[in-house]
Amino acid sequence: MKITYYGTAAGEAWPGVFCECELCRKARELGGKNIRTRSQALINDDLLLDLPPDNYLHTLYYGLELGKVRTLLFTHSHSDHCYTADLELLREPYSHTYTHNMQVYGNDAVEQKIKASCRTLGGDRERFSFHRIMPNETAVSGPYTITALRATHAKDETCLFYHIAQDEKAILYAHDTGALTAENLETLTLLVTPLTLVSLDCTQQKIRDGKYHMGLADAAEQKEMLLERGLADARTIFVVNHFSHNGGMLHEEISREAESRGMIASYDGMCLSI
Ligand SMILES: [Zn+2]
Ligand SMILES: [Zn+2]
Ligand SMILES: [Zn+2]
Repeated sequence: MKITYYGTAAGEAWPGVFCECELCRKARELGGKNIRTRSQALINDDLLLDLPPDNYLHTLYYGLELGKVRTLLFTHSHSDHCYTADLELLREPYSHTYTHNMQVYGNDAVEQKIKASCRTLGGDRERFSFHRIMPNETAVSGPYTITALRATHAKDETCLFYHIAQDEKAILYAHDTGALTAENLETLTLLVTPLTLVSLDCTQQKIRDGKYHMGLADAAEQKEMLLERGLADARTIFVVNHFSHNGGMLHEEISREAESRGMIASYDGMCLSI
């Protein structure tokens, strides 16, 4: 399996769309790994995690090939993860070459957003089919067994994160969530483990959270807990991702702090083969 991070920022992007704070100013000056677009990742070449407003930018500048995607998982409806208008562009006359039926999964809030922007939930002509997925529900799409888990995030919708298994390997992609709950851990014990790669929210970096997002200390605690319970082992790769300017660290510092806790800090374009 392979995971590529195309967007590694929180909702405001980094530098923030309208922000000129010191950390955004420094990110603009330094460039490189400090430039973070909004949240998106790809597993292998065909399973996409979220469709942010920077989706098109990722195809232009980061080499994302959307024509190969067969499965799309939405975590929740927040604007940095869910730009549903692009789904309409799968069909004729907007794409002359996408002849597949993209399998799209998400919660009820994502469903409403798709309906509002595309006026449909898919079908043969649309080139996508939407499936509402509930926490602790498993679906099979292509070579993947996908299980949704309940995120501790916005209270006005059922936010999700995902366990994605292919053969004996499994990725846990846990962003826009606080600390893992007893319910999450119970579900994970029924799935493919030890996890091959765990991608943990780190929006808050220096700041502790656990109730809506996570900081570095929260992420490190999740790592230890997964190891203690045997859901991860010494071979598991831990990544921290989804960073906000409010967390107080530029990439170099995040990377150093993450490394000291046995984790890798993501950056836009980072690709890991697992
Ligand atoms: Zn987000
Ligand atoms: Zn800022
Ligand atoms: Zn969110």
